[in-house]
Amino acid sequence: MALAEFDDLFPLVKSISYPNNKTKHLIGMSQLLLKNFKGEVPMTIDALVTLPGVGRKTANVITSVIDQQPNMAVDTHVFRVSRRIGLVSMTATTPLAVEKELIKHIPTHQVHTAHHWLILHGRYTCLARSPKCALCGILPFCKEGTNKKASSE
Ligand code: SF4
Repeated sequence: MALAEFDDLFPLVKSISYPNNKTKHLIGMSQLLLKNFKGEVPMTIDALVTLPGVGRKTANVITSVIDQQPNMAVDTHVFRVSRRIGLVSMTATTPLAVEKELIKHIPTHQVHTAHHWLILHGRYTCLARSPKCALCGILPFCKEGTNKKASSE
């Protein structure tokens, strides 16, 4: 990929979101991996975020999924669900603040798995617009869910 031209790579990724940027990033990233990391994907956050197109969230995903490091990628689901449940305080208003609070309270060996629990819970139960509180298995432990239930009784 480091030798690829834009037009070589673009057709292969055009079905995904933001294919223009991703094509440029993939080529740039491949070149930088060869130049700075001997062609190996580094496994530290600091090194990963030097690559084009890789931000903190992606670096957290790579290190936690591939290397089981206790890093928490905070996407829109993790952010919303953590705040609703009360796993983090409402003063955690940025993904980085949520990440730091979650890491502090989740046992280290479960952080990389907890990331998936929170994403799946947000995707299928604790939906952004209409959380399915009546069907939710953790309703008794959820700050927002119990508050809503109390105010409707
Ligand atoms: S009880 Fe409702 S708000 Fe709380 S985690 Fe479950 S679905 Fe989300």
